[in-house]
Amino acid sequence: MASQEIEALSAALARLPGLGPRSARRAVLWLVKRRETALVQLLDALAAVRETLVECQTCGNVDTQNPCGICADPRRDRRQLCVVEDVADLWALDRARLFAGQYHVLGGRLSALEGVRPEDLSIPALLARVEQGGVDEVVLAMNATLEGQTTAHYLAERLEAFPVRITQLAHGLPVGGELDYLDEGTLAQALRARRPIS
Ligand SMILES: [Zn+2]
Repeated sequence: MASQEIEALSAALARLPGLGPRSARRAVLWLVKRRETALVQLLDALAAVRETLVECQTCGNVDTQNPCGICADPRRDRRQLCVVEDVADLWALDRARLFAGQYHVLGGRLSALEGVRPEDLSIPALLARVEQGGVDEVVLAMNATLEGQTTAHYLAERLEAFPVRITQLAHGLPVGGELDYLDEGTLAQALRARRPIS
């Protein structure tokens, strides 16, 4: 019978994506055995995240500054705007270092099943950004899932009112694939072969 503290930590870790109760318990045991090294490092890293990370009010990225490093970077091309579902997708695309423009994080995707409506996502903010002007191309980089593509089509319709070129990621994305899990080669190919949305 584990102590209340161990149970609480296991339960907290078990809520992390990709971890279940079993692996959470193993992680806790692993940490307890390394309480002077790995546990201290983890605590420091968590404290640093808690104190320094903020959400960028422009694009929705998570960074230590607002506006984030990408939005604040003068070398970034403000005429290209890449729309992604989640911050993890932004990071995945940016790791590939192929897109020199700016990003916009929706914070999810439209889902009739889960009751996610356009106003639940950062879609009004996206439209406002495009309406401000200065954007020539909007790249819709949604996941190649049914909901991702539904979201892309919805956005394409809403963006039609503006004088921008609307493109989306092309072949290379496996059906059902999520950007965050793709290797950089596949991502690179999909980004290079982006095409006007039909
Ligand atoms: Zn930003």
